[in-house]
Amino acid sequence: MLCEGVIWLDDWFAVEEVAPGVIAIGEPRFHQINWNYLILGTRRALMLDTGPGVRDISKAVRSLTTLPVTALPSHMHYDHTGGLSGFGNIALPDLTVLRACMQDGWLMPTDDLYVGYWEGMTWTPVKPASWLPIGSEIDLGGRRLRLLHTPGHSPDSISLHDRDNGILFAADFVYPGKLYAQIANSDLKSYLDAAEALLPQLAEATTILSAHGKPDAQRLHRAPRLARQDVADLAVSLRSLKASGERPAQWPVNDRMSLLLSDAAFLSWQEPG
Ligand SMILES: [Zn+2]
Repeated sequence: MLCEGVIWLDDWFAVEEVAPGVIAIGEPRFHQINWNYLILGTRRALMLDTGPGVRDISKAVRSLTTLPVTALPSHMHYDHTGGLSGFGNIALPDLTVLRACMQDGWLMPTDDLYVGYWEGMTWTPVKPASWLPIGSEIDLGGRRLRLLHTPGHSPDSISLHDRDNGILFAADFVYPGKLYAQIANSDLKSYLDAAEALLPQLAEATTILSAHGKPDAQRLHRAPRLARQDVADLAVSLRSLKASGERPAQWPVNDRMSLLLSDAAFLSWQEPG
């Protein structure tokens, strides 16, 4: 079930060291095939996304590092925040849409941000310990990550850019397969703007690590990798979709990705100005 270089941590979590100090923790038995990323510095570690919470990912993380770990969700969707409450130190991107979800110190995302109702998942309230400004640098010791706002799939989506090591952790902004832009709060203007803002920041050789994988032709799993060209293709695809004036339910990006669409995602393109 796993590609060479990917090993089972137990009967649920698969791990792959995709680069020195970057451990992908996959859940290939979950139908969404989530991949979460444990990013290690010399002083502390960052856990980007915590899976759907079918199993306790915090235990898996504790078996992989003794460093203090901060959990950061790439966005609020249930398949990225399911294990968040297992972490004692939670950071959130400082976005208005997330600040608006705070109730007496507890994070309580709206149904349309969490979308747990898709699979009958229920939110476990958490208390964020810190709010990270967009554009700020997260210093793990010997590794710096730039926090980028990359909305489109959802308004609260972020990516992390490890420029020194040529890695972009893009979560659900781009991944191999059908990109979800048909869901509540998806927005194509944001998607295109974010892709165009991202491109000049990415070196040609950047490895893009995504949050949803796809088995290969042999049905084997590994952490999903994309390239800068995939973001460039996404921008071209969105520009041509906008120019076409069409409202399709699906739109091709390249041979690795396509966009799933709904009428609501087009609304911001219809606004004057
Ligand atoms: Zn998502």
